Amino acid sequence: MDALGWEQADVILFMGDAYVDHPSFGVAVIARVLEDKGYKVAVVPQPNWRDDLRDFRKLGRPRLFFGVGAGAMDSMVNHYTAAKRLRSDDAYTPEGRAGARPDRATIVYTKILKQLWPDVPVVIGGVEASLRRERHYDYWDNCIKPPILEESGADLLVAGMGEMPMIQVAEACENGTFAQLPRILFGPVLTTEEMDWIYDLPFTRLPHPRYRGKRIPAYDMIKFSITTHRGCFGGCNFCAITAHQGKLIQSRSEASILREVEALTRHPEWKGTISDLGAPTANMYRMGGRNKELCAKCQRPSCLYPNRCKNLNYDHTPLLQLYEKVLRVPGVKHVFIGSGIRYDLFLDANGFLDATCRRYFEELVTKHTSGRLKVAPEHTEDKVLDAMGKPSFKLFVRLEKEFRRLIREKGLKYEIIPYFISAHPGCTMQDMEALSKNSALHGVRTEQVQDFTPTPMTVSTEMFATGRDPRTGKHIFVERDIAKKQRQKSFFFKKR
Ligand code: SF4
Repeated sequence: MDALGWEQADVILFMGDAYVDHPSFGVAVIARVLEDKGYKVAVVPQPNWRDDLRDFRKLGRPRLFFGVGAGAMDSMVNHYTAAKRLRSDDAYTPEGRAGARPDRATIVYTKILKQLWPDVPVVIGGVEASLRRERHYDYWDNCIKPPILEESGADLLVAGMGEMPMIQVAEACENGTFAQLPRILFGPVLTTEEMDWIYDLPFTRLPHPRYRGKRIPAYDMIKFSITTHRGCFGGCNFCAITAHQGKLIQSRSEASILREVEALTRHPEWKGTISDLGAPTANMYRMGGRNKELCAKCQRPSCLYPNRCKNLNYDHTPLLQLYEKVLRVPGVKHVFIGSGIRYDLFLDANGFLDATCRRYFEELVTKHTSGRLKVAPEHTEDKVLDAMGKPSFKLFVRLEKEFRRLIREKGLKYEIIPYFISAHPGCTMQDMEALSKNSALHGVRTEQVQDFTPTPMTVSTEMFATGRDPRTGKHIFVERDIAKKQRQKSFFFKKR
């Protein structure tokens, strides 16, 4: 602030992650957006909450408001495994060090700020606040928690992607109408122009210079990745992306993505590889309903489950064109798709949906994987897949067949890596045994396994907490015993 000649910041943002000026980090995006609107924004990453609280005082009082976020992940998911064991590392902290943020960081930071500056508005946002905005089941304390606004004492909560609501908050503070805002502001679906404006802001794509010489693992993962769109219409029951980013796909223009690719090629560590040209689901770029009026009235949580909606346009042409253009940018040698894909968008149990779908799959495998195609059937048993809101395992079997055919034709030594989830509601020990014996998985490496974690605001968490499937009201088996959950997971590593 001294270097900039600022007496006072307009907005001060506190957050649980290290500060990386990259559009994959929410606080960096909010800071850049507010800065572009003419506000003076300061960021305090990972403040010390255990000492005399000097980090919360050092920049003084902001002219407008404080913003608080736990970081890119819920702090409890960041700190604990599904078996409730404390993790020894933290990918969002320099050198992967654990312990740089408190449990329930949003609540802890807000309470401190309210104690020190009781008359300054505190606005909370990010994944932790957004997904705890209602009364919710908390797995770690095994109880129903009140909405986080109540628990934290914050003045306002921004739910979902926060750019536009944060501008609204700043303007309201400026003109004295903050008290008239609703206590929860929701991120509105963004247009392509708005998405382009956000991603065209002058991010340095680097960690703050204070971390020089230190490694931030999450930054290493994303420094050469590019986001093509937001939102997901897959509606998997265990995933909270839709509750945070929305079901409607909001895509950037090709031109904006290409500008970001060119900017990447000037990065000091650029070696020619884009590690991920993706999004929550990489192959939903520019997709959505053909008849928008139908979509506006639609109540379905998923456009893909239990069947692909007839109104859904699953044309992969825009994505194929994008991949081609990105590969033509001088300096780009490889473009990989690291994000997940939905293969029920291009395939059913009889084969590819159309010629473009086939071409998408072939280009994906031959040009955009580094030899390992990672896909997520999540289970083999249909009753478990139904509880998850995922398509039948028959589709994976078909995909695998197409994959083998393709690599045989092209003479490639590539692998297909399926991801699975154990101990999801509805999944018994017998289901895991059936998975481990499934003949379609013979010779397939199945080391990618996740023990189900009930995170706030998902349908699966509701099943876990209540023992009922909220879609039918019927009883559903839930494995809550940690040792038995571990046994379910161990089936993946049994010798076949
Ligand atoms: S009408 Fe179909 S395409 Fe549109 S939102 Fe509903 S399920 Fe999705």
